[in-house]
Amino acid sequence: MAKPRLMTPGPTQVSERGLLTLARQVTHHRTPEFRALLAEVLEGLKYVFATEHDVLLLTCSGTGAMEAAVVNLVARGGKAIVLESGKFSQRWRVLCEAFGIEVIRHEVPWGAPFQADDVARLLRKHPDAVAVYTTLQETSTGVGHDIEAIGRVVGPSDALLVVDGISGVGAMECRTDQWGIDVLVVGSQKALMTPPGLAFLAVSPAAWRQIEAIERPAFYFDLLAYRQALAGPDTPFTPAISLVAALAESLRAIRAEGIERVWARAKLLGRAIRAGMDALGLQLVADRPADGMTAVYVPEGLDGRAFLRRLEARFGVKLAGGQGPLAGKVFRIAQMGILDELDVLSAVAAIELALAEMGQKVNLGLGVGAASRVFAQAANGEVPNTGGK
Ligand SMILES: *Cc1c(COP(=O)(O)O)cnc(C)c1O
Repeated sequence: MAKPRLMTPGPTQVSERGLLTLARQVTHHRTPEFRALLAEVLEGLKYVFATEHDVLLLTCSGTGAMEAAVVNLVARGGKAIVLESGKFSQRWRVLCEAFGIEVIRHEVPWGAPFQADDVARLLRKHPDAVAVYTTLQETSTGVGHDIEAIGRVVGPSDALLVVDGISGVGAMECRTDQWGIDVLVVGSQKALMTPPGLAFLAVSPAAWRQIEAIERPAFYFDLLAYRQALAGPDTPFTPAISLVAALAESLRAIRAEGIERVWARAKLLGRAIRAGMDALGLQLVADRPADGMTAVYVPEGLDGRAFLRRLEARFGVKLAGGQGPLAGKVFRIAQMGILDELDVLSAVAAIELALAEMGQKVNLGLGVGAASRVFAQAANGEVPNTGGK
């Protein structure tokens, strides 16, 4: 069997220190030891999210925290603006609709970024919108949205800015307070290098005022219960204790490297992947590439699912396929978490080989060469211009 090389944009690989932590006996959570660990983790998350706001820890996948960011902020019959451009941003709309919220849907084609001007226009037209729901890194297309620009137009309005940073935060620059993000949603299993099962919310004072003001159809996801428990710090229900310990290891590693360096590393790996794909003549899905992952079209006429199966069977390289209209047409590769330059080069090599072995016309080494040059130039302090698309 080929050696497993998990390179999907979630879940991502867990560091050896994190894995060793997971091998330990379960501890109890209503103890001073666990409170100290939770306090450390919440501080670490604040550092990674660049926020001084309250950070809440939930035991659920990322979508659970998205649901919390819907049911706690907008009452039934209230109005929300949803920016939609892919599988995950679509989820905001589906969630809002499930809770009887009136959705003002702003759709742009999959692969395109949102424009702040459009958001400003929508806010003028709908001054009663309670919140704008958007996404930092759209994991279905590899688009990185300009949340800073969107924050500038949402800031002066009455609406709250809610950002799905589930896969982006910890890979892409995200300055929660500075950019005016009222609620940031993050998951454990993407750039934070921890197994699935934890999700986090950063909540601004303005968002708390709204949460206090409305009827919330929530119990497990009632955020006021989580806020009350923060004094401990505690969690209202049993947290995934072992995952909190593993997360502490990831956050220590991020702090040791420095968050700006972590962002720069993901950006560099992304540039190298894009250069490699470009050299192989493959097209990217995203017009404005995210820093934590890349979505790439498989060549016309090639079965995308068979291609992914071959990559995994032959080389152990596990990539993700396409979702929705992109199913069978694209592969998605991570450049976040503990992945490094050689991980990227080996993945590009595997892609070249698999394409060649499946009868595609490929100049072996071309992609690896282009990606290597990006790394060599970066090591020499030159910033290579390998463009966006
Ligand atoms: C992974 C992901 C989600 C869904 O998270 P789950 O943990 O699977 O619930 C939502 N949004 C984005 C951008 C993601 O990448």
